[in-house]
Formats: sequence, structure tokens, C-alpha cells
Amino acid sequence: MTKPTIRPRRLRASESIRSLVRETVLSPTDFVFPLFVVPGENVKVEVPSLPGNYHLSPDMAAAEARAIQNLGIPAVLVFGLPQYKNERGSSAWDANSPVQQAIARIKDACPGLAIISDVCLCQYTSHGHCGHISNGRVDNDSSLESIALTALSHAAAGADMVAPSDMMDGRVAAIRRVLDADSYQDVGIMSYAAKYASAYYGPFRDAAQSAPQFGDRCSYQMDPANAREALREVALDIEEGADIVMVKPALAYLDIVRQVKDSFRQPVAAYNVSGEYAMIKAAAAKGWVDERRIVLETLTGIKRAGADIIITYHAPDAVRWLSR
Ligand SMILES: [Zn+2]
Repeated sequence: MTKPTIRPRRLRASESIRSLVRETVLSPTDFVFPLFVVPGENVKVEVPSLPGNYHLSPDMAAAEARAIQNLGIPAVLVFGLPQYKNERGSSAWDANSPVQQAIARIKDACPGLAIISDVCLCQYTSHGHCGHISNGRVDNDSSLESIALTALSHAAAGADMVAPSDMMDGRVAAIRRVLDADSYQDVGIMSYAAKYASAYYGPFRDAAQSAPQFGDRCSYQMDPANAREALREVALDIEEGADIVMVKPALAYLDIVRQVKDSFRQPVAAYNVSGEYAMIKAAAAKGWVDERRIVLETLTGIKRAGADIIITYHAPDAVRWLSR
């Protein structure tokens, strides 16, 4: 029997050697933590389908953001639930809505923390779609102005970067134009460039109360079967001025993350979405998986696939585990 001369196991012999040759290392600065803002004062209510995540009034969002900053996490992604909903979703760009107030409070409480704001209409429209409805369909072009106005109101409140998640055609260009015209040329755009029509968003819709009241989102979000189309969407968003491009969800789309990384020079964000989080939390609660190990393995996999930025509900736990 011949003995092997080449032995990859030599590089796995001890933790010291393994650490020397480790190709992907997670850091707190990889993460963005999502916050859900609701109207009121002193409100902090756990979202049942997202354990460890809360509906927060603007004052409590500022306190939570400070805790996140103290963990060394560089950014939050702010979602808002409005006081009122209507057909046009006009509370989305109302300066007195909870998300605009929260952005200002966070800016005040946490100078130095990057505030990224989700820009969409679905939390604000009575029908729950991401754009305006015309003849029973989600109309692209009439939605752009409202989406851009929403982004502008976030910039005015103090957002460092806006993140359009609606998947309307031309929205990055529309937002860039409006921001630049109002001297917000330094506010960045992180576009949800390849956002798929995914079943993994279930728990989020609970948190954001944004489920569509009729039909589905398949006429604007992408078909999970398509990869080339994702590269086309990303290329368009970059042409229109996106500074960071996002793939959402992450786990079932790691091939897309890798292809985007290899095809473009812009930083790539991946959104480790609510369904991915909830599956791990539920299995861990039953004792079926080791939560710490599976979370760190999952986040490492997303980074290894090419994500420069990981938006994740696991961020605070992951940071605590990484520092041990
Ligand atoms: Zn939406």
C-alpha cells in the first residue's frame, strides 16, 4: 500500500495552524442590523416571529442603536411602520412619521453610526404593494416620484444612505436625481438590486405589517429561477448610480452573490432574511441544532460567497460569540 505524499491534513493539525490558513474571517464590521420603528414613546415589543427583534418607538430605536454601536456594529438598517396607511402611501415621506423621527433620534444619540434607511411604499400603502396601483396593476412610473420623495425625506432626517427595496425600474436614477437636486449628493444608495419574490420573507411581513392585500409581488420582484436576470438588474442599478448592490435573500442565492461579486466592482451586500433567521431560531429552540455554531457557519458561508456586507438579525449574537 503506497502512502500519500501530499497531505492537506497537515494544515488542519491544530487550531493555530488552521487559524493561519483560514480564508474567511467574520468581523463585527461585516454586519448591518435591521431596526423596526413604530409610533409612540417608550415602546419595545418583541416581534413574535423574530425572537430578539423588537418594534421600537423612535426613542427606543435610538437606545437600541446605541447598544448596537457599542457592540462594534457599524450600521443599522431602519424600517418604519407608520401612524396611518392610505392608497398612495403618503406617510412614507411624511417628516413626522416614526422612521424619519427615529433617523433623527439615532443620528443624535449615535454620531458615527451609519444609518441606512429602507425606502419602499409597502408598509405605508393600504393595499400593501411597493408601488402605486393603477387599473389593478402596480404602476412603475407613477411610483418613482413617491419613492424618490421618501428617500429625500430620509436624507433630510439624517440618513447616511438610502436603500430602495421596491424593485421598480428606474428608481435608483430617480432617487439620485432628487437627492442631488436638493444638495444631498453625499447620501449614498444601497439598492436592493437583485431582490427575489421569496417565501423567506414571511416573518418580516409580520414585523413590518406589509403583506400585500391582493395578488403577489411577482410582477416586480425577481423569479427565484433566474441568475442572468440578476446580473442585468445589478448592472442597471450601478449605471443609475447605486453605490452598494444587494442580493436578497442570501442563503438560497449564494451563487448570485458570487456572480455579482465576480462581475462588478461595487461592494456587495447580502440580506440574511427573516425566514432564514426564524428557521435557525426555531430549530435551536427545539434543541435540534447548535445555534452558535450554525449561525457562525451560516454567516461565514455568506461572506465566503462574496458578501462584503451582511444584513442580519443575528448580528448582536454573532458579535458576542466572535469575541469569546
Ligand atoms: Zn416594499
